[in-house]
Amino acid sequence: MSSAPTPVTVIPGDGIGPEVVNAALRIIEAAGVPFAAELHEAGAKAFQRGIESGVPQDTIDSIERTRVVLKGPLETPIGYGNKSANVTLRKLFETFANVRPVRELPGVETPYQGRHLDIVIVRENVEDLYAGIEHMQTPAVAQSLKVITRPGCEKITRFAFEYAVAEGRHTIHCATKSNIMKLSEGMVQHTFEDIAPEYPQITAKHILVDNCAHQLAMRPEQFDVILTTNMNGDILSDLTSGLTGGLGFAPSANIGSDVAMFEAVHGSAPDIAGKNLANPTALILSAAMLLRHIGEGKAASEIEQAVLVTLEEGVRTGDMKGDRPPATTTAFTDAIIANLGKRSRMAAPREYKRINVPAASNEVGHVAVATRSVVGADIFVESLEHPNEMGDTLTRAVEGTPLELKVISNRGTAVWPDTGHRTSLVDAFQCRFVARDAAREVGDAELLDLLQRVGAKYRWVHVEKLQRFDGKDGFSKAQGER
Ligand code: NAP
Repeated sequence: MSSAPTPVTVIPGDGIGPEVVNAALRIIEAAGVPFAAELHEAGAKAFQRGIESGVPQDTIDSIERTRVVLKGPLETPIGYGNKSANVTLRKLFETFANVRPVRELPGVETPYQGRHLDIVIVRENVEDLYAGIEHMQTPAVAQSLKVITRPGCEKITRFAFEYAVAEGRHTIHCATKSNIMKLSEGMVQHTFEDIAPEYPQITAKHILVDNCAHQLAMRPEQFDVILTTNMNGDILSDLTSGLTGGLGFAPSANIGSDVAMFEAVHGSAPDIAGKNLANPTALILSAAMLLRHIGEGKAASEIEQAVLVTLEEGVRTGDMKGDRPPATTTAFTDAIIANLGKRSRMAAPREYKRINVPAASNEVGHVAVATRSVVGADIFVESLEHPNEMGDTLTRAVEGTPLELKVISNRGTAVWPDTGHRTSLVDAFQCRFVARDAAREVGDAELLDLLQRVGAKYRWVHVEKLQRFDGKDGFSKAQGER
């Protein structure tokens, strides 16, 4: 154990946050870890003080200094206005990997008892739909961009393999929806398949995410590490928490190349806040992950063992089933402190090695290609006309130009030329124009002329170039498009 206290930014957070963070701090102190907590604010109180991001500058400065955070849950105003302070923190410090381990726990009754579940979700943490790039195309149509990048996929995939190696795990399932989102979720699958051979000691399997959810409910014991995208991981990790006793027991780490933040998976549980009822286990196990990260592995294992012993003794909080009357947050914490130094009968401490986290790069990420070409454009327009009428108007509008109207689609389904689909139409149409001569490259001047011609007939809302990279289409086809 080192003697100089390690500075750690501590954010008590909202709702039950201060209660569970306080429990973790008491245990860390009782375990004798030299730990210098710098207490800072983020979340609801910061929003109320008019701080748009929910994260005050002094909190950011502290994290810049300490590079390690223990964090309570932060409330996010739902549906409008401010961005989530959690997502802000994850993005600000590029904590690209979200690690969410769950294990069968003694005394925690679940339908999966005895199946020795020990599963880790490695969730990409800064891309995907959480990029939060949203637009109203028309007053009736909202669009959210799902951003997946090759450098992002490489980083999270390498992290997942390095994590599996460090913990002596054997299998990684990469869970995607690549059958539907072939370019975005497909990129996750392909990157995984490209990198997997570098780690021959780990069995690498791809699984569709919906099947993964089904398999998690039916035969969860087959899973070891699950690597997945931000949105999928958010949902799957709440599911895995449920398999092993619920949110009260699920810890997590947000790991970046420079900064790591440790927090429970659960939120601020406002219904039980301030009542000394919250289960602090998730935050305590998150704190143990933090201690391991700062090189206090012995104390981390001691705390984890004390939690297990406490559960084995039947001490429980109100969210757990059991015969004994539920303990308060404080009494549960006291019991863990009293059990420091004891060994669990059920689960021996795991051997951990330091995780080799992929380094940050200052270069702009890109993929080099040998050839690229522009073959047309999608122009999204607002219209109340029937697609047949639009098809005639737009076909005439581009007569005599190098581009022709190929297809009009609505919510991803081709509606012109008439496909016979019974599609409910909304007022945002995707009009695909391609070069009449497929062998000919389309130039920007021609696209600007196209936009003017379309704009003279309809209110255009959004334009997307149709590109080919190394001979492959860099765009999807509409349902029913030939
Ligand atoms: P939640 O706070 O996780 O709570 C859902 C329910 O789970 C609670 O009502 C409570 O159920 C139970 N629960 C959660 N943690 C518990 C604990 N430690 N001990 C005992 N029971 C616990 O989810 P939410 O209600 O959807 O979200 C509330 C707020 O938290 C929102 O503002 C959300 O944005 C925020 N949030 C923050 C984070 C984060 O900071 N990382 C994560 C998720 C959500 P009972 O009804 O059984 O008491």
